[in-house]
Amino acid sequence: MLSDDEMAKILQAGRIGAEARELGASLVRPGASAREICEEVENLIIKRGARPAFPCNFSVNEVAAHYTPGIDDDIRVPEKAVVKVDVGASVDGYLSDTAVTVAIGSPELERLASSAREALEAAARIMTSNVRIYDIGKAIETTIKSMGFRPVKNLTGHTIARYTLHAGDSIPNYADRSTFYRRLGPGTMVAVEPFSTTGRGLVIDGPKAYIYSATGRMPRGLSEEALELYKFIVQHYSTLPFALRWLQAEWGRQGLERAVAELIRAKALYKYPILIEASGSPVAQFEHTFLILKDRTVITTLKAGP
Ligand code: MN
Ligand code: MN
Repeated sequence: MLSDDEMAKILQAGRIGAEARELGASLVRPGASAREICEEVENLIIKRGARPAFPCNFSVNEVAAHYTPGIDDDIRVPEKAVVKVDVGASVDGYLSDTAVTVAIGSPELERLASSAREALEAAARIMTSNVRIYDIGKAIETTIKSMGFRPVKNLTGHTIARYTLHAGDSIPNYADRSTFYRRLGPGTMVAVEPFSTTGRGLVIDGPKAYIYSATGRMPRGLSEEALELYKFIVQHYSTLPFALRWLQAEWGRQGLERAVAELIRAKALYKYPILIEASGSPVAQFEHTFLILKDRTVITTLKAGP
């Protein structure tokens, strides 16, 4: 059972996430800088009294997920694009996770975006207590295929717990037989995130990573510099994902990349490589966070504002 205080924090994280998502989407236009949009979105979350649950993801066209501007790296929105803005807020560790796709410059890309949005709506209609994970994936796959696209099979939704974005169960975007007997009971927080593509429907790791998180394993035998950085990371971000550019802003550039590399070798940090559609085709995504209760389901990220 959730206390009133927990419920209030969950709903607040959802509303702030939704507001950040809408702000990000409103700023997408050809030539816009991902860095400027992500910083505005993250600053809004902080201004509302929350923390980003993870760096603002701003993934364009065949980049399906996990792009955020790096220390030196930035991108600009092309004339023809599907732009995924994926954001979330943390209120005392209670999280939201939500995404929108903005399609510009092409009716076909608009249709692709609609397929992911309609798939999320189809899933939302069956998100009641004890829903089968298999049925969620089936609703998503059926909707996307009926519009002539493919779901991305190796990207999934996920259950959420306090300070934990991926709390154990994955929610596939297709009718995955291995999830047939798995149900989501009352009290479950879960992010559902259909990804659709004109391509193969698989993502592969790209060469770069700009997002990291602490694994929670205390590393041994670190250099003094890496140990200091590790303490800073755990204190500021706990085990939630963070961006290299955040570290640079707060820690400085000196020795940063070397210390991060050492922490990855010591398995103190995970890295999240940019995920790219295997055939180089555009990808669309929509996402909401759901709180499943005994007698109703709340979409915490449905609406922005009070
Ligand atoms: Mn997300
Ligand atoms: Mn998610």
